[in-house]
Amino acid sequence: MKICLYNTYSRKKEIFKPQFKKTVKIYSCGPTVYDYDHLGHAWNYTMADLLIRTLQYNGYKIRYIINITDVGHLTSDNDSGEDKIEKSAQEKHQTAQAIVQYFTEIYLTNRRKLNLGEPFLYPKASEHIPDIINLIKKIEKKGMAYKINDGVYFEVSKFPKYGHLSGNTLAQLKAGARIEINPQKHHPADFALWKFTPEKVKRQMEWTSPWGKGFPGWHIECSAMSLKYLGPTLDIHTGGEDNIFPHHESEIAQSETATGKQFVRYWFHPRFLMVEGQKMSKSLHNFYTLKDIEQKGFSPLALRYLFLTGHYRSQFNFTWESLQSSQIALNNLYDFIEYLLIIIKASRKLKPSKINNQQIKLKIAKWDKKFQQAINNDIDTPKALSIVWQLINTFNKNPNHEEAEIAYQLLMKWDKVLGLNLTHIKLEKLPLNIQKLTKKREKLRAQKNWPAADKLRLEIERQGYLIKDTPFGSWVKLTNKINY
Ligand SMILES: [Zn+2]
Ligand SMILES: [Zn+2]
Repeated sequence: MKICLYNTYSRKKEIFKPQFKKTVKIYSCGPTVYDYDHLGHAWNYTMADLLIRTLQYNGYKIRYIINITDVGHLTSDNDSGEDKIEKSAQEKHQTAQAIVQYFTEIYLTNRRKLNLGEPFLYPKASEHIPDIINLIKKIEKKGMAYKINDGVYFEVSKFPKYGHLSGNTLAQLKAGARIEINPQKHHPADFALWKFTPEKVKRQMEWTSPWGKGFPGWHIECSAMSLKYLGPTLDIHTGGEDNIFPHHESEIAQSETATGKQFVRYWFHPRFLMVEGQKMSKSLHNFYTLKDIEQKGFSPLALRYLFLTGHYRSQFNFTWESLQSSQIALNNLYDFIEYLLIIIKASRKLKPSKINNQQIKLKIAKWDKKFQQAINNDIDTPKALSIVWQLINTFNKNPNHEEAEIAYQLLMKWDKVLGLNLTHIKLEKLPLNIQKLTKKREKLRAQKNWPAADKLRLEIERQGYLIKDTPFGSWVKLTNKINY
């Protein structure tokens, strides 16, 4: 089945075709590990994860890298300001290394909590300085770089396509430039490949280079690491909307100058996340993190569920109310699957002739096609999620053994994309005495001895279990609520 993806570069939805038949090479700009990652990051990472899972669902092998920026990302996008990592280290009276280690660990933990698939590598910029220097040398050799008092710069006016990805022109960039820019630069939009350590400044992270002691620019790091691990051409490059300019624009200029080949075939940019209708900002104190979510009693996967209700190319508005609804929906879904397991367990007692396997297979294929069409259409997860609930509603109209089998098999399959840990749902193993009481009660109910059956129900509840009678048998659970 074909996959359609919106490509930021062409500004169109295109049919996805990787350069190799079965493998897709993907690079995601990872975090600059100087602070806690917030919901905007979580949204962005989850959208990239859904893209990757969709490709895997279609049978592609994925070669995937997420870099860790641990040096060179400055507080201002115009190559001025402080290094975010060094600044954070100073503020927290820590070494840069300790800051990097601490926030990388948090980032990786959050990824696991959100059930995000693992790349084959998380390369760190600081561990690739020789690769970065070599790449700058190549660019210099092509006559596209020049050295001034504070660093080595890329000359954007010599790269005709500069501005295409972001929709900027060099004239616009010149007009919009701020005055405090280094006057030695040939064009205000020229960006640093290598920055020199300023005089009288003691940096924790600096290296010698053919041009002088200093550190790499942020953009060249991604060009160097993607080239090293994935080769000159990526199938897909992902990153936040705020990375389009200057970061990704500059990556294209550097990489294509150095290799002479197309750098990226498809650019994938999820849109911003808003919080309660507002942009996240320090003054509004709405930089929520996954920890805030957990502290309010929500599970990280409820957030993942909430993200599934939005499309990556629409601005997503996070609200606590919608997170609450998502938590309820997710609990419902989990309990629904448990109910299916009750029915499937009961089915085993039926004669095999009572189950029409051919019919089940056909129905599964029909449903699955709908689901795959949704995700293949530019990762339409809201549609995919609506198909999940259509399936549940269809089951509810006619709950039987066959429909339970169909719903269960589909949900397990779809969870490869949804990533909600639906496959982890198992029937609770009940203590022997509870099992005995349940069986005894079922017998009494069969004999229509209601008063005695009710007595046993109370006894089961007294021991902390909830019992729900279904047409397919008793559903007993250590809980105070069954959500389905
Ligand atoms: Zn990057
Ligand atoms: Zn020049």
